Amino acid sequence: SFNLSKKAISISPSVTLEITAKAQELKSKGIDIIGFGAGEPDFNTPDNIQNVGIKAIKEGKTRYTATSGIPELKKAICNKLKVENGLEYEPENILVSSGAKHSIFNAFYAILNPGDEVIIPVPYWVSYPEFVKLSDGVPVYVETKEENNFKYDIKELEKAITKKTKAIILNSPSNPTGTVYTKEELESIADLAVRNNIFIISDEIYEKLIYDNENHISIASLNEEIKDLTIVINGMSKAYAMTGWRIGYAAAHKDIVKVMTNLQSHMTSNPTSISQYASVEALEGDQEVIGEMKKHFEERRNFMVDKINSIKYLSCKNPKGAFYIMANISQVKGKTIKGRLINDSLDFTKLLLEEANVAIVPGIAFGADDFIRLSYATSIDNIKEGLERIERILE
Ligand code: PLP
Repeated sequence: SFNLSKKAISISPSVTLEITAKAQELKSKGIDIIGFGAGEPDFNTPDNIQNVGIKAIKEGKTRYTATSGIPELKKAICNKLKVENGLEYEPENILVSSGAKHSIFNAFYAILNPGDEVIIPVPYWVSYPEFVKLSDGVPVYVETKEENNFKYDIKELEKAITKKTKAIILNSPSNPTGTVYTKEELESIADLAVRNNIFIISDEIYEKLIYDNENHISIASLNEEIKDLTIVINGMSKAYAMTGWRIGYAAAHKDIVKVMTNLQSHMTSNPTSISQYASVEALEGDQEVIGEMKKHFEERRNFMVDKINSIKYLSCKNPKGAFYIMANISQVKGKTIKGRLINDSLDFTKLLLEEANVAIVPGIAFGADDFIRLSYATSIDNIKEGLERIERILE
C-alpha cells in the first residue's frame, strides 16, 4: 500500500454522492430505482440564464477573470445582499468561488489554526466535519433534538464553547433537516458569538427554498458586531437550478475575504468565466422561475409529510425549508424485515434499495442514526411510487 497523507486518508467520501452513484448504477442495469437521494433541484437552469452563458462563450468571455470574480457579478451580489438581506457590502467584501462548497472550504482554511474548534449542529451537512478536519480544526458536535425542530438549544451551544472555539456553523434553512431559524433564535446565537468573539459560518444556500410564509433572515444583518464575525455563504446552485455551473460566494469583512482570495488564487484561480456571466443574469433577471420551482417543492413537501406520517413505524416533522425530510426510523430499528435484522439507518437504507428499489440516504451520514433523509427534488409521481414501495415493505 502507498504511504499517503494521513490527513487526506482520514477524509471520508461523501455518502450522499455515493448513494446517488449507486442508484444510478442500478438504474443503468435496467433496475427501476426511485431516488430520494438528490441534492439538487430536478429542474433545468432557466432559459434566460442558459442563453447568457451561451452568449458569453460566443463573445469570447472564456478567459481567466480576477480571482475573486468579475466586477459585474460582485456588484450584482452586493445588490442582492442589500435588497434581499439588508446587508451592506462592497465588492471588496465578496469572493466568488467554484460552488458554495468551495466558499465554505476557503472560509475554514482562512480562519482555522491547528486545534481550533468548530461547533457543528447534529444532524449536519456531510461536508462540514470534513472541511474542518482538512483545515486542521476539530469538529465539536452539538446534538439537536427533533422535538426542538433540530435547532440549537442555546444552553447546549453555550456549554460546548471552550477557549479553543473559533467558529459556529449555522445552516438555515438546513440540509438535512429543513430547519429555519427565527429572528429571536438568531439573536441569541449572535449574542453568544459576539460575547465570546466566535465566528459564524452562515450557510444560506437554501435561502430561496422556504415555505409556509416563513422568512429567511441572515444572522449578519442583526447588528454590526455580528456582521464583522460572520462569513455569509450563498450561491446559485439550489436557488437557480445551477448545480453544474459551480458558482458560490462568500461575503465577509474585507480582511477575511482578502485571505480567502489569496488562498483561492493558488487553488483554482477564478471560478468559470462563463458561469459567472450567467450568474449575473440569474441574480438580475426575472425571478419568477424561482417562485415556480418553490411552488412545486412546497406541494411535494406537503404530500410527503402527510404520507410519511401515515406509514407504520415512520414519522417526520414538517420542515420549513430546503428540499429534504428527516424521517424518524427509531421504531424500525430492532425489527426483522424480509429476514434482515435492521440495527441501524444503513441496514434500513440497504434493505430499501435492494428489496424495494428505493434509494435513500441513511441518517448516519449526517450523524443521526435514528433517521433517514428523503429529498423531494424529484417528481410527485416518483414520490408517490417511492413512498408506496416503502409502505409495502413495512407492512
Ligand atoms: N451547503 C449545503 C448545506 C449544501 O447542501 C450544499 C450542496 O449540497 C452546499 C452548501 C454546496 O453547494 P454548491 O457547492 O453546489 O454551491
